[in-house]
Formats: sequence, C-alpha cells, structure tokens
Amino acid sequence: MRTCGPCTACCTALAVLDATLKKARFAPCRHLAAGCGCGIYDQRPKSCADFACDWLRGTWGGEDDRPDLSGVIVEAGRPDSVALAAAPGHTIDDHGPRTAEALFVAQGRAVQAWDPHRMRLTIDGAAREFAVVCVDVDGILLAHVAT
Ligand code: SF4
Ligand code: SF4
Repeated sequence: MRTCGPCTACCTALAVLDATLKKARFAPCRHLAAGCGCGIYDQRPKSCADFACDWLRGTWGGEDDRPDLSGVIVEAGRPDSVALAAAPGHTIDDHGPRTAEALFVAQGRAVQAWDPHRMRLTIDGAAREFAVVCVDVDGILLAHVAT
C-alpha cells in the first residue's frame, strides 16, 4: 500500500456526502489545513477514512502518478467502469487525465471523466459531454443536461 504523502487531491476534487460533512465536488474541504492535510484526521468522516484512490491502492500508475502530480484521480469502482477526476489545478484535458482516459477506453470500460466545468462519459468508445449530470452510486447516468 502506498501513502498519500503531501497529496490532498481528493479533499478538493471529490464530493463528500456524510452526515457530518457535506462537501461539493471541486470545492476545497473546510478541514484542509495548510501543510498537514486533514485538520481533523482522527475525527474525519467515515467516508473519508474509507476512501482510497486507485493510485493509493497500488492498482493504478507508477510512483510518479500520485494524483497531485499526474493531475488525475482514478476510481475504478467496477470491472467495467472507471471514474476519473481532475486534481486541483488540472483539467481533464491535461496530459495525465487524457492518458488515463484513453487507456481505460481502449480496455472497453465506461469512463466518467470529471473536471471542474464539465463531465464526459465515454461508453463503447463514444464520448458525450454534459454540463450537468446526475449519476447513482454505481455511476449509472440518471439524468443530464447537454452542453
Ligand atoms: S487522491 Fe489518492 S493519494 Fe491523493 S490524498 Fe486522496 S486517496 Fe490519497
Ligand atoms: S474531512 Fe479531512 S479527509 Fe475528509 S475531505 Fe475534509 S480534509 Fe479531506
């Protein structure tokens, strides 16, 4: 298992919907503390404690692909689908996210690619962009507003 080190990408890029913390996607968590990561680490919500991106699990990328360095957070929740989120300071059009997206598309997996301004779904190799989306916990598209 790798360690997060100085990376706090998921504390901004991902939504947290916990009874004690409701944080929107791409909004920095109010508990982020400069230089030391989570300011409430020992009392952080269960959903935070349970989360590990695929880089942290060691199932994605090399040592240099830590999300704050590569620009992409990979969550391969199911064998047939994967979610990518742009790390703070990056967009999904940066090198890292696009490389990851191309790799997973080539594997025939459905890809959700999030950046701060839009979301792209690539299913069966066909990409569609959305301004607003609603997905369920398994990443299934429930509703969308096209760009
Ligand atoms: S994005 Fe991954 S490596 Fe970075 S802080 Fe979150 S779990 Fe750790
Ligand atoms: S509570 Fe801590 S671990 Fe959870 S998102 Fe905020 S800073 Fe990150």
